[in-house]
Amino acid sequence: MTTRIFNFSAGPAVLPKPVLEEAQRDLIALPGVGMSILEISHRSKPFEDILNTAIANIRELAGIPSHYKILMLQGGASLQFSMVPMNLLGAGATADYIDTGSWAGKAIKEARKVGAVHVAATTKSDNYSRIPAPGEQRLTPGAAYVHMTSNNTIEGTGWKSLPETGSAPLVSDASSDIFSRPIAVEKHGLIYAGAQKNLGPSGVTLVVIREDLLERSQATLPTMLNYKVHAENDSLYNTPNTFGIYILGLTMKWLRALGGLRAIAATNERKAAKLYGEIDRGGFYRGTAQKESRSLMNITFRLPDEELEKLFVKESTAAGLDGLKGHRSVGGMRASLYNAFPEEGVDALVEFMREFERKRG
Ligand SMILES: *Cc1c(COP(=O)(O)O)cnc(C)c1O
Repeated sequence: MTTRIFNFSAGPAVLPKPVLEEAQRDLIALPGVGMSILEISHRSKPFEDILNTAIANIRELAGIPSHYKILMLQGGASLQFSMVPMNLLGAGATADYIDTGSWAGKAIKEARKVGAVHVAATTKSDNYSRIPAPGEQRLTPGAAYVHMTSNNTIEGTGWKSLPETGSAPLVSDASSDIFSRPIAVEKHGLIYAGAQKNLGPSGVTLVVIREDLLERSQATLPTMLNYKVHAENDSLYNTPNTFGIYILGLTMKWLRALGGLRAIAATNERKAAKLYGEIDRGGFYRGTAQKESRSLMNITFRLPDEELEKLFVKESTAAGLDGLKGHRSVGGMRASLYNAFPEEGVDALVEFMREFERKRG
């Protein structure tokens, strides 16, 4: 048995070990089916059960009301940058976007290709080191929707409470913090997330959409980009990512067995507090996000200079702590502590950081 190292990658990211073990055990033949999940039709009863169970577990976990549809699509969160405006931004209307970092910026870029976009708030002048305060938002009256990024994977910031959007539906890119804590679904019109951070493997995109918004999807849209079509076909208009949905389903089962979103939130807070505690302990490490905006999922920090940072990456990798190099656009370090990341890995990183400072500080 090969030993597993600690995987701090921002995504695709660590999956729960029991999920990998179950998938490995059943890969050749699903119990009672006699064929691999990789071999069965997406229209077969066994796959329908896998899909329906995954959706039921998601609904249960997050308390998603029955007037929201749960879709499993493809194309990543990046395709949602286009699908959201194509479906929800009608002619003559304006969509508000809150610009909190690189992913928000990409969402804005794609929406501008579709229609009128108003940037309702931005923290660009602070290097995206914080989430805007409520008073900084300049919302458009009658906006088609307001788009936010609940956790900024690259900059290491996260929203602590949702923005007030009045009657405009709130649309959230929750790719990097979905199901890391309880989520007020009813305050949203639409929530989307690429699966590869907190839900499962890459290649599945979860979309939770309030049913009345489906009426905005025009029949003239390309069929595969139409939420209404996917909703009417229960995510089976075409062949979905069957294996990805299977692993996502196992991950949701694992999360429920742990005690659900409240339980995982407590663990996530404890994990993040340990690492932020070490970052704040002396002056050697420096957190890049402002304290009140700190992400619990992606923890970004710097060392005194870039030479030390290169050395830190090299030595931590050699010590079995993989994926700590920050995103190329911002530099520094980033430790991604998603749901499946084990607490022992945080302890190991803290110990490594102390030792590194003792040797090099
Ligand atoms: C990773 C990420 C994306 C991009 O996801 P893809 O599935 O690769 O398209 C978008 N938004 C956020 C917040 C992310 O973390």
